[in-house]
Amino acid sequence: MRVSVDLDECLGYANCVVDAPQVFDIVEDGMQVHLLQENPPEELRTSVEAAALDCPAKAITVVD
Ligand code: SF4
Repeated sequence: MRVSVDLDECLGYANCVVDAPQVFDIVEDGMQVHLLQENPPEELRTSVEAAALDCPAKAITVVD
């Protein structure tokens, strides 16, 4: 699985960080997400897909 974030759309709501902290983080001084891993392991699929669904800006894309 490959994850990407459209930083033009991300507004730093951090829902993704709550759902999948192994994959997403918010840098302290920033208002945008920082992708910790672009190719997370399969066992994180459920949380990554939840993050994509929960993102209010629809900024997260998950590709198989
Ligand atoms: S939930 Fe969406 S808008 Fe919020 S930090 Fe994550 S990617 Fe950005």
